[in-house]
Amino acid sequence: MAIYNIHAGHNFNVSGADGYFSETTESRNVKNAVISKLQSLDYKVYDCTDDSGKTQNENLKNIVSKCNDHAADLNISIHFNASNGQGHGVEVLQYSNKTKTAAQNICNAIAELGFKNRGVKERKDLYVLKHTKAPAILIECCFCDSEIDAGLYNCETMASAIVKGLTGEVKEIVQPQPAPAPTPTPKPSGDDWVRRLQEELNRQFGARLVVDGINGPKTLKACPMVKKGAKGGITRLIQERLNSVGFSLTIDGIFGENTNKAIKVFQKNRDLVQDGIVGPNTWEWLLKGTKM
Ligand SMILES: [Zn+2]
Repeated sequence: MAIYNIHAGHNFNVSGADGYFSETTESRNVKNAVISKLQSLDYKVYDCTDDSGKTQNENLKNIVSKCNDHAADLNISIHFNASNGQGHGVEVLQYSNKTKTAAQNICNAIAELGFKNRGVKERKDLYVLKHTKAPAILIECCFCDSEIDAGLYNCETMASAIVKGLTGEVKEIVQPQPAPAPTPTPKPSGDDWVRRLQEELNRQFGARLVVDGINGPKTLKACPMVKKGAKGGITRLIQERLNSVGFSLTIDGIFGENTNKAIKVFQKNRDLVQDGIVGPNTWEWLLKGTKM
């Protein structure tokens, strides 16, 4: 089984890019989630993140020396990109074509989350890629200063995509549910649509949500990215909810042009990015179900 070295880019002394979120912080969150997921699939993983380097050079040298302490098959560097706010999407940087399969698979898996696929790029000038013994790739997960990317980004789905691209396997970490507190009186019945969504999320994705019809953070977190081309129960529920706030879609469970247009109008009316993609921000409004 392959052995991986993984690290988050930069550190808090010499921090990375900033925008809608911090590269330094989120690269650490994604790195941690990737490590948990790989470990739960029984891969050996070393965390080669450097939090002590005081300069950029020190940071890079420390990372390389940690990487070279282990006989790994691949070094993985987690970063987020930034430009002028207009750039968006995922790209994976590699030193040579030795890593082409992993780099391309990871890039494609992240693009499947809705990010623009900027492809795999060869870079001979990057310190870590150049100086590690084992082959190395650097994942620019998406742009932290892009409104589009910030709307699509979720640490867990990003980490799952990286693990899927790397290993071909998907491992969702399911948080154990805390034991429910004894309740002498039954809870209020909640929203029937939310209840049916919770049931569907449990059925399709093993979300293990309490089916209580209550719009809480766990339910929002369990909602997947849905966009044009999707089919099935989740799309059907989205169409139903859109109709309940004033649209008149055919409820057929097919995310086609009409549903895409309706989502864009729904987003426009709520000051969201009008990309037609049902991501966390759009889900938040769908869960509320408020008419505008
Ligand atoms: Zn970076």
